[in-house]
Amino acid sequence: MSQGSAFQELNNPPVSSIPASVEEFLQQLAVPTLLRLDGADQGRCRFVVTLLHGNEPSGLKAIHQLLLEGFRPQVTMFVAIVSVSSALAEPLFTHRFLPPLEDMNRLFTSPVAGEQGQLAQALLALIRDHQPEAVIDIHNTSGDGPAFAVCAAEHDCFYDLAPLFTHRLIITDIRLGALMEVMDLGCPILTVECGGANQRLSDYVAIEGLRRFLTASNLAEAASLPKEEKLALDIYRHPVRLELQKGASLCYADTPCEGVDITLPTQIDRRNFGIARVDSPLAWLGPKGLDALRLVDARGQNVIDQYFVARQGKLFPRVTLKLFMVTTTPRIALSDCLMYAVKESYHQLEEAPTDDHWPDFFAGVGSLSSG
Ligand SMILES: [Zn+2]
Repeated sequence: MSQGSAFQELNNPPVSSIPASVEEFLQQLAVPTLLRLDGADQGRCRFVVTLLHGNEPSGLKAIHQLLLEGFRPQVTMFVAIVSVSSALAEPLFTHRFLPPLEDMNRLFTSPVAGEQGQLAQALLALIRDHQPEAVIDIHNTSGDGPAFAVCAAEHDCFYDLAPLFTHRLIITDIRLGALMEVMDLGCPILTVECGGANQRLSDYVAIEGLRRFLTASNLAEAASLPKEEKLALDIYRHPVRLELQKGASLCYADTPCEGVDITLPTQIDRRNFGIARVDSPLAWLGPKGLDALRLVDARGQNVIDQYFVARQGKLFPRVTLKLFMVTTTPRIALSDCLMYAVKESYHQLEEAPTDDHWPDFFAGVGSLSSG
């Protein structure tokens, strides 16, 4: 358990010890924290991770609210609240991470030196030690938009876990070092993007989803409804990332900015999960045209010519696309990516399987390349 010491432990805190505001709660935590609430059934547990990014508070707000309510989970629950120092930096909840620190959700798949690397390894060790039935990692998107879930493997369990929060599920084969990419923990890890940090609906998605996740007696049945009421899941496969080429410039404006490589409309996040058709321009391009951009697939190849085309100084989809994680924050667009896209041909409506148990997690992880 020595690696777990990167987290302070907070076990079954009484309601009277929880401050009324989430800001005071965060200040009280002060450092990365593992919260434990014993369940009616203490022989099993479920794990929640939140605040990997300091500017994504919906998960923490939900946990704070549950603690204030004196919530009792069905099985024991652990909540790892991670980037507390980034979240605490003024103004509160505005820093994804504090340079020189790195993006915490890029450090999980290869060991990294330093305090953040140790924190990542400590979190993985805690999950290994406690052997939860599933891990839910709660985030917010940097632009506004509806909630969606993301997993990094094909497995039936995600068809049961995602609908606790949302009917949209992205199955990604892109590897960035995110927590959900860790495949040797013996349990599924689902990322939930609750929507924008400033949308009230995001907080609702987080708390109602967590309530379902933490009160279900059997996760494999938790989201199941009678067949006639069953909603199909919206499944998206093989997302790609739109990035700026090194040295390229961007701005957000509603008329093209002179000399800038790409000008994105200020409300481009309204495109999140809408259909982007071939006749619908997305942005203005500068003199370099498409060469200012790259669209990275799971193999790290630039596939921009398969997805986008430049016409009359504008960026158009070449095929019908769904866009998501469309950011309106220049800092994120420059340091991470502008948006993700999925070909509409890789989008399917699927029903969850009706089995009431999950096959062994590793044995059941399918090969994505065959999909
Ligand atoms: Zn995040």
